[in-house]
Amino acid sequence: MNERQEFDVVVAGAGPAGIAAACAAAESGAAVGLIDDNSEPGGQVWRRDRSHAPSQLARFWLNRLERASIHRFSQTRIVAATARSRVLVVEQPRGSFEVSYRKLVLATGARERFLPFPGWTLPGVVGAGGLQALVKSGLDVQGARIVVAGTGPLLLAAASHLRLAGARIQAIVEQAPLPSLTRFALQSARYGKAAQALGLGLDLIGVPLHVSSWIEAAEGARRVSAVRVRVLKKVKTYPCDYVATSFGLAPNIELPVLAGCEIEDGFVAVTGGQRTSVKDVYAAGEITGIGGVDSALAEGQEAGSGNALGADRWLPFKRLLHDTFNPRDELRSLAAPETIVCRCEDVRRSALDGMTCWREAKLQTRCGMGTCQGRVCGAALQFLNGWRNESVRPPLLPARVETLANPGRRSR
Ligand SMILES: Cc1cc2nc3c(=O)[nH]c(=O)nc-3n(C[C@H](O)[C@H](O)[C@H](O)COP(=O)(O)OP(=O)(O)OC[C@H]3O[C@@H](n4cnc5c(N)ncnc54)[C@H](O)[C@@H]3O)c2cc1C
Repeated sequence: MNERQEFDVVVAGAGPAGIAAACAAAESGAAVGLIDDNSEPGGQVWRRDRSHAPSQLARFWLNRLERASIHRFSQTRIVAATARSRVLVVEQPRGSFEVSYRKLVLATGARERFLPFPGWTLPGVVGAGGLQALVKSGLDVQGARIVVAGTGPLLLAAASHLRLAGARIQAIVEQAPLPSLTRFALQSARYGKAAQALGLGLDLIGVPLHVSSWIEAAEGARRVSAVRVRVLKKVKTYPCDYVATSFGLAPNIELPVLAGCEIEDGFVAVTGGQRTSVKDVYAAGEITGIGGVDSALAEGQEAGSGNALGADRWLPFKRLLHDTFNPRDELRSLAAPETIVCRCEDVRRSALDGMTCWREAKLQTRCGMGTCQGRVCGAALQFLNGWRNESVRPPLLPARVETLANPGRRSR
């Protein structure tokens, strides 16, 4: 017989949205299971940092989580879901089992979006948030020369963190134009973001910030040694040891799609109380629209409690983020015909010429069929070619064959 654990409420993802949802549900007396693939809760923004104490906000929520009566499944990946029978199949390092629920809260967050440019697959060209995560877990960047490039507030957060860790930030390269950035700065003050922005500004005094600018190419023989940046009509070259790049965030909607949730403009569609289109399935955080940690917390509490608590007040901020940092059209032509687009399967851009959709690209080139299952090239091709990949099949993440054959069996 399959091993199965049963809960009133299961929360998928232990980032800020999932933590808030799990706490709200547990504090109202429900039996709650909180599942995350990391070893500790916190998601992307509150990832354990060996060199810095957690922020006050993170401490508040992590303490609240500690005090609540919640069954926490860490290092646990959700690999399959059947909404009709209300069951998730999960895998841990020592085996797999099933988790059933009466109510499911999806809070699977987002990942960085990468746009391909010549040289982006060179060692040393990494995600801005990814490099920040590596530094949090011990990578030494003392004295390393780093160019941070792409778009969005994550660039400043990553640059500040890397600089405090001893890196020499050569430049921050932001594709958004100055008028949009000025409007963003003025309007985001309304959402309590002024102090945070000021803090980042102070951390980054003296670092060149190029706006309306973007990377044209990363150069180097065995790893990146320089990067060419288009600044207005000129090209500047920065010698560097790392390029930390991110073109905004792409939501992790694979589990919601598998659970049957309706998707609107690439995000999980929700109504009041964070309800999705599937009965008893709720969604919170970045999967419903990129809005940052405060919005994720508000939505999580709403989803966990089942009550409308005003999380929709963050919708204008989400729109502002989108309108300010939406990648500009010029970035569509950064990738040359020989630039690799799908790095798992080594598919070059020219190999996709004449194709009209994901399915055709997959069938003819294996684009998106490698280890990451389109998590990297999918978001890039959505921007470059307008292709959406919303057909998802289990396993959601690479899984052991025995998990899929018999999820109830624990390995010895
Ligand atoms: C790489 C990166 C770095 C970032 N750094 C910052 C920063 O420094 N400052 C800042 O303000 N914002 C940062 N952000 C934005 C930040 O993610 C959001 O503001 C906020 O954390 C969103 O919370 P969330 O709960 O929606 O999602 P997340 O924090 O992303 O949490 C989702 C969790 O779900 C887990 N998960 C997803 N799928 C599965 C699955 N199938 N099985 C098990 N677990 C799963 C993920 O591993 C993750 O722990 C970063 C984003 C990224 C992608």
